[in-house]
Amino acid sequence: MKKTYHIWTIGCQMNVADSNHVASQLDALGYEPVSTPEEADVIVLNTCVVRQSAENKVIGKLGALKPLKQRDPNKTIALMGCFVGIRPNPKLQERYPWVDVFLPPSEPAPLIHYLTGNGHTEDMREEDRRRTAERWQLQDRLTQSMRHLALHGETPVTAYVPIVYGCSFACTYCIIPLRRGKERSRPLESIVEEVQDLVRQGVREVTLLGQIVDRYGYDWGGRPDLADLLYALHDIEDLWRIRFLTSHPNFLNDRILNAVADLPKVMPHIEVPIQAGDDEILARMRRGYTVADYYHLVHHIRERVPDAAIHTDIIVGFPGETEEQFMGTYKVLEDLRLDKAHIARYSPRPGTVSARTMPDNVPDEEKRRRHRLLEELQERIQREKNQALVGTRVDVLIEGQRKGKWEGRTPQNKIVFVEHPDNLRGKLVQVEITWAGPYSLRGRVQGIIQK
Ligand code: SAH
Repeated sequence: MKKTYHIWTIGCQMNVADSNHVASQLDALGYEPVSTPEEADVIVLNTCVVRQSAENKVIGKLGALKPLKQRDPNKTIALMGCFVGIRPNPKLQERYPWVDVFLPPSEPAPLIHYLTGNGHTEDMREEDRRRTAERWQLQDRLTQSMRHLALHGETPVTAYVPIVYGCSFACTYCIIPLRRGKERSRPLESIVEEVQDLVRQGVREVTLLGQIVDRYGYDWGGRPDLADLLYALHDIEDLWRIRFLTSHPNFLNDRILNAVADLPKVMPHIEVPIQAGDDEILARMRRGYTVADYYHLVHHIRERVPDAAIHTDIIVGFPGETEEQFMGTYKVLEDLRLDKAHIARYSPRPGTVSARTMPDNVPDEEKRRRHRLLEELQERIQREKNQALVGTRVDVLIEGQRKGKWEGRTPQNKIVFVEHPDNLRGKLVQVEITWAGPYSLRGRVQGIIQK
């Protein structure tokens, strides 16, 4: 009988990419995916700790696996991602003895070595181990970047491709640099090779990922940079669309914006978080820019790439955030009318500067109120902006089916549903928009552009 695996993933797109990477390596070992942990020989939990709420979900899942492991000790349980972190943590092993193997973010190798009985690392010193983990990631990507997406089921139309691992920035609230290690860019050739391979398998759109994706190449001094990479990927035949996220305002330079403007395959879609609309809060977050800088950047993006969709992230209830400071954030969203805002309530994270030095003094109820106010404002803006699209024609790359309708996205990353008798999966179609809500659009197919 074939061995089976089940992967549970929460958190960012990088985790989704990491889980796919694990899956393709398990596929290569002859394992088959199953939809529940009960049926699986190997269970992988790919975890997130960006906020306490995510961490709580992970702890809940871990607890649920304990009886499974007790019933069947032959199951392998692997814990991966930011709950584990890049440094070995003996406390985790003590607290969760039913976990067999711990994997740092983006790092399938320890599991593969565990299952194949190779590469014991137990007696390594901590420093060596960390360095090995960082080296593995790059080597693995180089030698094993060939992902076999279609071994099971259909090849996806879109894929995430990590281009920068880790983060060396020091936003005071953020735990990610502590858990994902220092910033490491992947060699350009290995990214191009991986994307070529994905395209050979049928992928038509790639999203390049990094915690600060516009810093691609900074760790080796600047060139090749993200713009060079976009030009290189643009030459790949049968690749139709390229996106990248998440950008930091300070590194989104003209070389990158010019590449977005000049290259038709690079979608007019920029994710560039402001986090807060107040200079004193931004300074205490150590973001490195002012509110005025952000306004200037948004206007500049709109000048260079007039049809660009701009997405932002926001944290409400940062330590000491006054009503007036919060209203600064409200005003930013009201003024700039961005296409999407991911809004989060501040959550103190262990080891971060803000958790150590700034009391979490905005009451939870108040954080919820501020969150709700911004959600309502942004929903109204998105509805208005989307309604302006009714009657226009947009190009939609169809990714699959949901509830009997074909689902795809516009160049600006807006979700569109259409009804059609034919199989449209993987096709680029022209759609006339007939209905618009804040989070999705509906329309009628006018014709097939590419198949
Ligand atoms: N590296 C990216 C994304 C980081 S995580 C960036 O810097 O933009 C995604 C989002 O989670 C962040 O943009 C931020 O808005 C939010 N976030 C990070 N740490 C948080 C915390 N301690 N509390 C609440 N939200 C947080």
